[in-house]
Amino acid sequence: MNSPVTIIGAGLGGLTLARVLHVHGMEATVYEAESSPSARAQGGLLDIHDYNGQLALQDADLMDEFQAIILAGRQALRVLDPDGTVTLDKADDGTGGRPEVPRGELRQILLDSLPADTVRWGHKVSGARALGEGRHEVTFADGRTVTTGLLVGADGAWSRVRPLLTDAVPEYIGKSVVETYLFEADTRHPAAAKAVGGGMMIAPSPGKEIFAHREKGDTLHAYVGLPMPQDWFDAIDFTDAAAAATAARIAREFDGWAPELTTLISESDTTPILRSLHALPTGLRWDRTPGVTLLGDAAHLSAPNGEGANLAMLDGAELAKAIVAHPDDIESALAAYERDMFPRSTEVVTFEGEEAHGTGPASDADAASDAANDPAQALLDVFTAPDRTP
Ligand SMILES: Cc1cc2nc3c(=O)[nH]c(=O)nc-3n(C[C@H](O)[C@H](O)[C@H](O)COP(=O)(O)OP(=O)(O)OC[C@H]3O[C@@H](n4cnc5c(N)ncnc54)[C@H](O)[C@@H]3O)c2cc1C
Repeated sequence: MNSPVTIIGAGLGGLTLARVLHVHGMEATVYEAESSPSARAQGGLLDIHDYNGQLALQDADLMDEFQAIILAGRQALRVLDPDGTVTLDKADDGTGGRPEVPRGELRQILLDSLPADTVRWGHKVSGARALGEGRHEVTFADGRTVTTGLLVGADGAWSRVRPLLTDAVPEYIGKSVVETYLFEADTRHPAAAKAVGGGMMIAPSPGKEIFAHREKGDTLHAYVGLPMPQDWFDAIDFTDAAAAATAARIAREFDGWAPELTTLISESDTTPILRSLHALPTGLRWDRTPGVTLLGDAAHLSAPNGEGANLAMLDGAELAKAIVAHPDDIESALAAYERDMFPRSTEVVTFEGEEAHGTGPASDADAASDAANDPAQALLDVFTAPDRTP
């Protein structure tokens, strides 16, 4: 089977690419491993920035839909010391450039904006090979294949398209995040709800930290960062059967912290979820290879820095515009896209590194490694820095 623009992965990046192409009258097919849009919970809140994610939504002609799902007040920020002392309490005055939206609702807006048969669910790619002259054959886990003249890997951290372009593979950054949720927190856990406040709360300490968001209503969603090797986490049972013991085990790492903070872990209403953090080498590039490219995490997976989803969407929009600008010359389109994408993704990591330490970095590589070593501090600085302009 021949496919037109073939996008692997229906995450925010791949869907934005498909949507912006559609706005310009070009169709694409998106192959997604998951069986349906609701096959997996889509995670918590994302702040969508006016200097990248929102630019992509403008290109996608979806700003009204985006405005409708913004959770008012969620740009409030509190920073607490481990003993519970509040060191920053910033209200959301409605003028910030990083409104928060539920990730699942944002993805649904993009899905709803595409022709019904654009996304082919239940198509897990197992590999892809070059056929010559810029054409590729994509193979799915069930043995089916498609061939295409333009293949885009938007398939995230463990991309099956990436090997066509580079041997690079993500490496563990030495830190993981454990996610917990408290429901009806205002009544059931008022001290924790007060500590988190109306938006985001960060309680950093060297190496480890607790982040929490107030999601819809009074659900609190915490991200607990711990600088442990992977085998330390492997020894902990993250299945439902062990939920309470696991929460207690993770909370123990925060002995001595204020109870309103440790409650976010120990009283979790859900089984703690482990997210191992990996990153590709900063500044990863590849030689222009006919007929194929990558976007989002597939291209530049980094330690969480508050930009990954925003950058994936911007990549999608910019790639779509490059294709539209060179409809009869795919190679020029891909070259133009990659020329801007490579430095853009590196700049973001560098920016976080500089901010994290208050001074300019010695080099891009140093800065990137700083951000990877202390993503919490990098994130904190993003949120407390003055708004960036595009
Ligand atoms: C704990 C944590 C917190 C984060 N917080 C933020 C934040 O606050 N703000 C922010 O901007 N970013 C954040 N990020 C980063 C953000 O989640 C990613 O950068 C973003 O999701 C990348 O989008 P993407 O479209 O490139 O890839 P993904 O969202 O990973 O989407 C890839 C898609 O491809 C599909 N897929 C994968 N393999 C295959 C295959 N073989 N065949 C077919 N389909 C496949 C997947 O099912 C998925 O639907 C966070 C990340 C983590 C881990």
